Amino acid sequence: MTNQEIIQKLNREHTLDSKEWEQIVETYSKEDLDYAMELARKTAIAEFGKMIYFRGIIEFSNICKNDCYYCGIRKSNKACSRYRLDFDDILACCAEGYENGFRTFVLQGGEDGWFDDARMCWIVRSIKETYPDCAVTLSLGERSFASYKALKEAGADRYLLRHETADAAHYRMLHPEYQKLEIRMQCLKDLKALGYQTGCGIMIGTPGQTPETLAKDMKFMEAFQPEMIGVGPFIPHKDTPFRGEKRGSVALTLLVLALCRIMLPKVLLPSTTALGTAETDGRKQGILAGCNVVMPNLSPMSVRKKYMLYDEKAGTDITAAEGITLLKQQMKEIGYEVVVGRGDFGKEKEDD
Ligand code: SAH
Repeated sequence: MTNQEIIQKLNREHTLDSKEWEQIVETYSKEDLDYAMELARKTAIAEFGKMIYFRGIIEFSNICKNDCYYCGIRKSNKACSRYRLDFDDILACCAEGYENGFRTFVLQGGEDGWFDDARMCWIVRSIKETYPDCAVTLSLGERSFASYKALKEAGADRYLLRHETADAAHYRMLHPEYQKLEIRMQCLKDLKALGYQTGCGIMIGTPGQTPETLAKDMKFMEAFQPEMIGVGPFIPHKDTPFRGEKRGSVALTLLVLALCRIMLPKVLLPSTTALGTAETDGRKQGILAGCNVVMPNLSPMSVRKKYMLYDEKAGTDITAAEGITLLKQQMKEIGYEVVVGRGDFGKEKEDD
């Protein structure tokens, strides 16, 4: 089969076999990419119209007990200046976001033990009480089933936990031995079982990634049926073991995003900050590849430069309001509009 025939098959059947996945990510041409993006874009428009959901991301702590080789806030990075926002700071970010039309707040952070269940549940409950019409998404890494359950009961709606790679040997190349793929996968299953809208995902171009590992990622996502998928290019950080590695390809990122959209038409798919960092108009390209979500940064200016997962991260020297205006402008330039609404999975029609 040609690559375009493979894309058509994916569009019809929403599944490919491993060899087909490998072929397309390995041998796609510029024309194949354009073809996939166009089909993905049409799929997204059929599901959501030319509407983009905005999620405000609040990076509330860069303290982390993990040591992922790619990540700028890894425990062993002594050059990273650490911070933790307090409850009032977090609620102030939400207030600014709410005024700007956000109806989803994403709390993201390192795996910081200070934010135990009691504290985290308190934060979630406070946000939900203050903004009952808003969704809360958490991105706090790996926690126990009991912890995820408590957070769900406190009102959390969604959870983002990229699986990073579905191949155990590749996972081991990206993480120290004690961080295990089985644990990550168990967390994802727990989250789904608890009724979270659950997001998994990968970086494109991490050291050791191959067509075979990417095929495994796609097969995993086919089976897992996530409500959200996060995909962005790997970008090296100067104070990590991967400082000398190559950046991930923007073209391959766009291809994988487009294929995710075609495979799972309803999935909530953000055009990521990493994509916007790798290329100036990266986030626009992401929308044109079928993404339907953008996540502007609501973190206070004082901490922006400290939440550096990778070098030259976009948006760290502008305020939340400036970032929002810029992204709205970018969406408008390609004929899309930002919606005020929670933007839950499968409920797009009820949000208008
Ligand atoms: N600690 C949380 C959330 C923070 S990391 C967690 O583990 O889920 C959020 C995501 O940023 C990671 O899942 C990873 O895919 C991405 N990321 C980290 N370092 C990166 C880098 N150098 N380049 C691109 N993306 C990166």
